[in-house]
Amino acid sequence: MSAPLKTRERLTEVRYEIRGELARRARELEGQGRTLIKLNIGNPGAFGFRAPDHLQRAIAERIHDTDPYTHQQGLPAARETIAAFHAARGTQDVSADRVFVGNGVSELIDIALRALLNPGDEVLVPSPDYPLWSAATILNDGRPVFYQCKESNGFLPDPDALEALVSPRTRAIVLINPNNPTGAVYPRALLERIVAIAAKHELLLLCDEIYDGITYDDAPFEPIAPIAGDVPCVSFGGLSKVHRACGWRVGWAVLSGDEARSRDFRNAMDLLGALRLCANVPGQFAIEAALTGIDTISALCAPGGRLHEARRAVVEACEASPYLRLVAPAGALYAFPGIAEEFSQGFDDHAFALELMEAEGVLVVPGNSFNVPYRNHFRVTLLPEPAQLREVFARIHRVLERQITD
Ligand code: PLP
Repeated sequence: MSAPLKTRERLTEVRYEIRGELARRARELEGQGRTLIKLNIGNPGAFGFRAPDHLQRAIAERIHDTDPYTHQQGLPAARETIAAFHAARGTQDVSADRVFVGNGVSELIDIALRALLNPGDEVLVPSPDYPLWSAATILNDGRPVFYQCKESNGFLPDPDALEALVSPRTRAIVLINPNNPTGAVYPRALLERIVAIAAKHELLLLCDEIYDGITYDDAPFEPIAPIAGDVPCVSFGGLSKVHRACGWRVGWAVLSGDEARSRDFRNAMDLLGALRLCANVPGQFAIEAALTGIDTISALCAPGGRLHEARRAVVEACEASPYLRLVAPAGALYAFPGIAEEFSQGFDDHAFALELMEAEGVLVVPGNSFNVPYRNHFRVTLLPEPAQLREVFARIHRVLERQITD
């Protein structure tokens, strides 16, 4: 028999367990007729959320205009809208020419890192991370260097420890704010420190702000670009989460800061965008409606709103559990509970997640999938109805009781 096809060697360093082995097993179980509660993906549409009507209308009304390719950076009108949205927040030096619309933030993360990195270049990535960031760094020949966002510090990074990781090969700092998977929202003073580090060491700031409208209990989300001023910065946003339209695959990347310093990078992004022609066109027609139309996310995050109450259900369940601890998420669509200190020795997050699925029909993501040096956390999404989350935590309790007292 002929040898198996060779694949890219560095893929062995890449993990994306949110849709990995456990998710495959879940599909198998579903194929056998099991009903599962799948909390592994932040997929609003899978939990009954719909994109707001005015976004749907914006596409429907222009569907006849959606056949041609657009400019590689996106429809000019959409880019003007995104630039104006950022300028209104106080971002300097932003213009439609420095906006890139992509097939979701996912594609733009890859393009930005491909535009930036040479073999062996280093990128400071948070741990826990959203694993696409480290994967895309690796697959673009870079090396992710993880800075720890410790639970004991509310999952916020220590800027001194972050700066100590800067080497002559460091090119960029990645921030995810509000954070996936922890829900941390970075305070202004911390963002200022990180900007100062980027300025001092001439690093590019790559700020994944896809959850920017999703915060709870008045946690103050601060976009980093206005703070960064002249420091070159790429801010990522999109329709997937705040506007609950992840299937439309619409995201954007906004370059800000010193024009002369970032011109080559801008042109590299433009060229890479041209190679893939353009982003999905129908979705681009919803951008203006999303950024200038009525706000539909705040009410979901305010007391009484679905996401707020889902978060409350998770926080209360963790507080009531002798086996769990939780840094209450201040934003985004996830909670990242840990096993209480006295039970966490030797805990195996993967074995836990597997038993939770096999025995109780609930799929969560083991915490180690987010590139952390420990195995005693798991991630759930806050998208289900609060009552379903309460049921989920009752099942989690049963599994922990069995695993911990056995
Ligand atoms: N960045 C973060 C932090 C995410 O959590 C996700 C999706 O879950 C993405 C980017 C990808 O978003 P998109 O749907 O725009 O590709």
